[in-house]
Amino acid sequence: METFVWDHNFITGVEDVDAQHRVLVDLFNELSATFSSADGNRDAVLTETFARLLAYTEYHFRDEEALMRGVGVDPRHIELHTAQHAQFVAQIAATWAARQTLPNAAESIVGFLVSWLGLHILGTDQALARQIVAMAAGASAAEAWEREVAVGSTSNSQQALLKVIGRLYHVLAGQNTDLMAANRHLEERVAERTEALERTNDDLRRANLQLEAFSRTDSLLGIANRAYFQERLDLACAAAFRREQPLALLMIDVDHFKEYNDWYGHPAGDACLQAVAQAVQQAMVRSTDMVARYGGEELVAVLPDTDVAGATTVAARVVEHVAALGLAHAASPVAPQVTVSVGVAAQVPPGQRDSASLVQEADAALYEAKAAGRNRWVLAL
Ligand code: GH3
Ligand code: MG
Ligand code: MG
Repeated sequence: METFVWDHNFITGVEDVDAQHRVLVDLFNELSATFSSADGNRDAVLTETFARLLAYTEYHFRDEEALMRGVGVDPRHIELHTAQHAQFVAQIAATWAARQTLPNAAESIVGFLVSWLGLHILGTDQALARQIVAMAAGASAAEAWEREVAVGSTSNSQQALLKVIGRLYHVLAGQNTDLMAANRHLEERVAERTEALERTNDDLRRANLQLEAFSRTDSLLGIANRAYFQERLDLACAAAFRREQPLALLMIDVDHFKEYNDWYGHPAGDACLQAVAQAVQQAMVRSTDMVARYGGEELVAVLPDTDVAGATTVAARVVEHVAALGLAHAASPVAPQVTVSVGVAAQVPPGQRDSASLVQEADAALYEAKAAGRNRWVLAL
């Protein structure tokens, strides 16, 4: 890394100031060397070196400012000179604090230190030295300052160049600060966006789950719909075959429901169906049993790992539970309350049937239950 190369142009002739400048330059070079070292403890050493550098800089500035006041340099120079010192301290502290986010922190920090000190010594410190010399030779502070402003001992072109570089430096320092602020702002914006995106994703996941549940549910009865029943029955058939387990299916149909509607009206018919669905649901024995609406006033129940005895037990419970509701059915020739008929089909290993034939058998058994007088269950043979 580039180091500060001292040359005679930096010598101001003010002994204390020159000695302190040499110490500063040594510290810059030490910091620069630490930046490029691959030492495992690099960061701690860097922080320590930087702290020493900053402390020494502040000491040097204080000393120089005391010297200016002691000699009685024109206040206009003191004001300008002090402001430059303060600006340097603020700028270097900010750059240091942001070093983790800078793409090239070493170059930025050391580059800034070297160019600032070079420019400051060549310009402002040399101007101070010239004023001190002029005052020692008898000029007043104001005369010494005005002479400096008007012409200076350096050539006009050199003065102009220093001014341009000085302005350029200010622009760059300002841009650097803006860039760091923009970078911080950008990071905050990215964090905000990420958070918003995660919230949206959560909402979307929830909405999808709701939609999925919605698409599987019958809106009137609040139980599984026919599509979901079909899906579950196919899965249950495959699983029963694989595990060599029995599987049963119940087809449940409300008796003389057309008459119920005709007698009590369609809305009462809806409420009746809801009550029947709940009763059927409660007649199930296991959590894996599933009740669905097959269509109209016809329900269906899938009973995994249930043999013939189990299935007929559940079917009997269904018939009893519905009758026990005691929903008056004045138009029914079967009973004074709402009743159901159930067709039972069970498939037991090693036999294998597909879901369609299981449905067909349960349906045929249901038809028999109807024909046999309703309010009963019939097992498919
Ligand atoms: P069965 O004992 O032979 O089953 O006679 P049923 O009258 O119950 O059978 P049918 O199939 O002739 O009539 C079924 C009736 O169920 C006709 C239809 O309007 C009614 N239904 C179907 N879905 C609904 C519904 O969602 N709400 C109401 N209120 N009625 C419905
Ligand atoms: Mg019916
Ligand atoms: Mg029917």
